[in-house]
Amino acid sequence: MTKKPTTWKRVPQSSPPLLRFSPTAWAKLLFLRDYGETEVGGFGIAARDDLLFVEDLRLVKQDCTWTHVKFDDDSVADFFDEQVDLGRSPEQFARVWVHTHPGDCPLPSCTDEQTFDRVFGRTEWAVMAILSRQGPSYARLRFNAGPGGEIEIPITVDYSRPFEGSDRYAWEQEYGTNVLPEPPIRAANARRRRSAQPASTRLDDETENEFQDAWFDYLEDEENPKGFEF
Ligand SMILES: [Zn+2]
Repeated sequence: MTKKPTTWKRVPQSSPPLLRFSPTAWAKLLFLRDYGETEVGGFGIAARDDLLFVEDLRLVKQDCTWTHVKFDDDSVADFFDEQVDLGRSPEQFARVWVHTHPGDCPLPSCTDEQTFDRVFGRTEWAVMAILSRQGPSYARLRFNAGPGGEIEIPITVDYSRPFEGSDRYAWEQEYGTNVLPEPPIRAANARRRRSAQPASTRLDDETENEFQDAWFDYLEDEENPKGFEF
């Protein structure tokens, strides 16, 4: 009697969701987080067949300080256009919002919560993911369809799918092209603020993650797709 070949067990549908990064995307996120002194933010690009598997991370032009990121509307619009031209659906490139916190706290600030509400409250679902410089991370999946709901989800690095190597030169170029520290951000000052700032104020940054305008324009296009193909 021949033995049946081993089959890989499928992950049960009831498994709690995970936000998974490819090793390459994770390495890029760490590189971008550590390259400068400021916060940095971008969009996760997910696999077509696995929308919580982030294969790449893309920056858009942004003004950054130690406590906030302001995305440039035109750059967000250009990014969306480019992704659509590449054949990706909005679910792949416009649902996972990733940013870093320079301190040790990955919890969303009040501004982060407002942004998540206002900007991502109109899509069927969205994820806010935050990685702190010291390592702790945070992610929350939110469903806006039906009765809605949200759940904190773990972040993990998934080695089970093919992945590419690092490309530090390209990542450096992408950082240099897109991340514009609001002057004057000097390393010494940033370090001094980091050590002086109590955790409570880090959760209540005063400024905004502003990319609402481009997002709302985009959503209007999504409702009335014009050149978009989904
Ligand atoms: Zn934040």
